[in-house]
Amino acid sequence: MRRLIPLILAFLMLGAVFAIPPVQQPSPQQQTQTKEQTVYITKTGKKYHTATCRYLSKSKIPISLKDAKAKGFTPCSVCKPPQ
Ligand SMILES: [Zn+2]
Repeated sequence: MRRLIPLILAFLMLGAVFAIPPVQQPSPQQQTQTKEQTVYITKTGKKYHTATCRYLSKSKIPISLKDAKAKGFTPCSVCKPPQ
C-alpha cells in the first residue's frame, strides 16, 4: 500500500495543473474599443498624416489623434487621416 501514496500524490498534482484556468489572452475586443488613434506628424509641418503618407519620408512622429488636434494640427489632404 505504501507505493500507492506517491501515485495518489502524483494524481493530485496533475489535477492541480489541469485545474488552473488557461492564461487569459488579451482580448482583441479591447484593442478595437480603444478610440485612441495614432497619426503621424512631421517636424516642420502643421498637418497630421496616416502611417503610409508620402509626406512622412523626412520625419515621422507618432502622436495620438487627440493630441494632434489639441496642438492645432489639421488633417493632411493627401492621405486623408481620420478627423
Ligand atoms: Zn499626409
